[in-house]
Amino acid sequence: MESSKPHAVLLSSPGLGHLIPVLELGKRLVTHHNFSATIFVVASHTSVGESQVLKSSMSPQLCDIIELPPVDISGRLDDDAEIVTVISVMMRESKPLLRSAISAMKQPPTVLIVDLFGSEALEIAEELGIPKYVFMASNAWFIALTIYLPALDKKVKGEYVDQTEPFQIPGCKSLKPEEVVDPMLDRSNQQYSEYLRIGMEFPKGDGILVNTWEDLQRTTLAALRDEKLLGRFANNLPIYPVGPLTRPVGSSTSKDQQLFAWLAKQPSESVIFVSFGSGGTLSYKQMTELAWGLELSQQRFIWVVRPPTVTNSNSAFFTSGNGGDDPSDYLPEGFIGRTNEVGQIVPLWASQVDILSHPSVGGFLSHCGWNSILESITNGVPLIAWPLYSEQKMNATLLTEELGVAVRPETLPSKKVVEREEIAKMVRKIMVEEEGFGIRAKVKELKQSAEKALSEGASSHQALSKFAETFGCVSLADMRN
Ligand code: UDP
Repeated sequence: MESSKPHAVLLSSPGLGHLIPVLELGKRLVTHHNFSATIFVVASHTSVGESQVLKSSMSPQLCDIIELPPVDISGRLDDDAEIVTVISVMMRESKPLLRSAISAMKQPPTVLIVDLFGSEALEIAEELGIPKYVFMASNAWFIALTIYLPALDKKVKGEYVDQTEPFQIPGCKSLKPEEVVDPMLDRSNQQYSEYLRIGMEFPKGDGILVNTWEDLQRTTLAALRDEKLLGRFANNLPIYPVGPLTRPVGSSTSKDQQLFAWLAKQPSESVIFVSFGSGGTLSYKQMTELAWGLELSQQRFIWVVRPPTVTNSNSAFFTSGNGGDDPSDYLPEGFIGRTNEVGQIVPLWASQVDILSHPSVGGFLSHCGWNSILESITNGVPLIAWPLYSEQKMNATLLTEELGVAVRPETLPSKKVVEREEIAKMVRKIMVEEEGFGIRAKVKELKQSAEKALSEGASSHQALSKFAETFGCVSLADMRN
């Protein structure tokens, strides 16, 4: 590592939805903006995807990646602690380790960048007297809600989900009560106080980086910068939309050869990819309906399946996800045999970016994690929005009502089982029907808009250059010119 370069230290919280974009941000600072970077990872140590992603990021080694030692949080959580609480406690308990690791660094950091759950670590930067930034690995509307939550907390009486009117967020699309993020579902739960705390800490850095781009969320970004709208809730901080930062195609360590051989034989844009992110799970009844829906649609598909669960829709989030899984145990009888020619069942985990970028893929039924959405848009693939947890209901609304690149079920899948006829109809709409034409065209437009934003001199490249200039970094493109 060359000591003359500014040294960015990044912190990723557990979960692939955080780790992937933080790694990509670190890499981009190194490859395009002449930083050196160290990435501290608070890993869950249980997710098969996490270890795969970490392994593939080691070569070529652009950043120093340091996994913080696991912390024992068992005595600090109630049995029914929700995911936001679990991650918050892990981050809190890891803070002393981070502090000593940073203090022991040969090359002291120039700047600390933390993700949403790392906001408590901003105080370490303060102690060291270095600049500090928060990186929102999701989108600008989610920032808006997060920083406006302390105001909503004062205004709204009773549970958010019991309100009858949408919540007005200055300058942004209003938020329907049924769309609130998971930690807002129950105000007496610890995860609500953790999220509220994050909302208060978020604007305490020196700026906010976000994994979106100017043209995708122009109005919301403008509201975040406008003193009269959300600017004052954002402490009038500079906002840097630097996305879409996505995992590069071909970065998977274990590509399923047989699956890609099958894909290569399918007609262009004829296959729908069905996957619920790193943690999404469905009930047995919903899996049965989905299987029938896919069959009825008569479209080709690849479906990443996980054993059904009764309770949470994010129950695979912290599980190892390998071994002991036989999909014929829980898929409808005969389904695998009947769909053998047109469908591929992949247990637990697939090389998602490689699949979405394949020319045979023409649709994505997704749980609407932000990384999945970006991976779909950057490959020009229209979506069926099937939100399950976290901020995914907001993301689904953004996709359908603002961006026009997705369809969604009439009712929320987390509330009611979506039936086979509706599933088949949605699949046919995005894949082949005339009425899906606009959606397919729109997502191709956004694909181009995303490519453009990242190119030299365009909005996201410029935003990161501007951020880098604060630390005396000249972007590598500017050095060439
Ligand atoms: N992913 C993958 N294979 C899988 C499931 C997920 O490669 O079988 C990757 C996916 O490409 C994405 C990330 O894991 O980059 C999941 O992030 P996202 O924000 O979409 O959802 P989360 O899992 O955090 O809910």
